[in-house]
Amino acid sequence: MEVCEGSHCLKVELIAYSLPSEGDVDKLIAESGAISHAPHFRMLDEKRVRHLIDLLRRLGHESVFEHACFTFRVEGISRVTSHQLVRHRLASYTQQSQRYVKLKNPKFIMPESVANSEFQDEFLYILEKSSQLYRKMVENGIRKEDARFVLPQGIETKIVITMNGRELRHFFKLRCSKEAQWEIRNLAKEMLKKAYHVAPILFEDLYQEFIENEG
Ligand SMILES: Cc1cc2nc3c(=O)[nH]c(=O)nc-3n(C[C@H](O)[C@H](O)[C@H](O)COP(=O)(O)OP(=O)(O)OC[C@H]3O[C@@H](n4cnc5c(N)ncnc54)[C@H](O)[C@@H]3O)c2cc1C
Repeated sequence: MEVCEGSHCLKVELIAYSLPSEGDVDKLIAESGAISHAPHFRMLDEKRVRHLIDLLRRLGHESVFEHACFTFRVEGISRVTSHQLVRHRLASYTQQSQRYVKLKNPKFIMPESVANSEFQDEFLYILEKSSQLYRKMVENGIRKEDARFVLPQGIETKIVITMNGRELRHFFKLRCSKEAQWEIRNLAKEMLKKAYHVAPILFEDLYQEFIENEG
């Protein structure tokens, strides 16, 4: 059994995103948006790209942001958090299956509040016990899909997520917020940093609000 404190095992990679044949994600969005007010398709310089994306954001014409897609590979989150994540419906997910994957050495997430409390030992004891029983049941013919019922929600999972720019912005607004639970918040903030790296204009306002201003 392996135990990760807080988000120490969190790993977020942006493995794919929409790139136009010329330019970058911001250009793809701005040039797609520009078609609504132009007789024909136009290439835009950086200043116009910024102006248009700002305008779309201000006017709430966010459907244009749907032209860009982002795919993330995530490891080191608990099933507590993946459960919250998949409530976001306008997205595609593929998650590691507990029916098909035998968890030889299960990994668990332990909240820092627990790690720093008098409950740490008892918490670890329960994790160890449930892992042992899981292994024993699987080795004795209980199907993985049934044996997994004994595993706690803190078990680590891996998931691939695809969202378009509009849904991703909505997700960041809800899940980077201080109202969100710490683990999904840490995940969302890592995703925001990666998305901002490839689409700095599209995500500029959220990056400033949730990453820069919060340090
Ligand atoms: C701080 C916090 C606490 C929460 N607590 C709870 C809780 O206690 N219990 C609980 O059950 N959930 C809880 N949630 C989850 C929350 O209720 C939403 O299910 C989740 O945040 C997904 O948001 P969404 O529905 O806006 O977005 P998405 O599913 O990401 O959809 C994006 C947007 O598309 C539109 N949309 C999508 N589907 C439909 C539809 N069928 N009909 C109309 N419009 C649609 C909406 O405008 C929606 O905002 C919590 C969320 C947060 C952020």
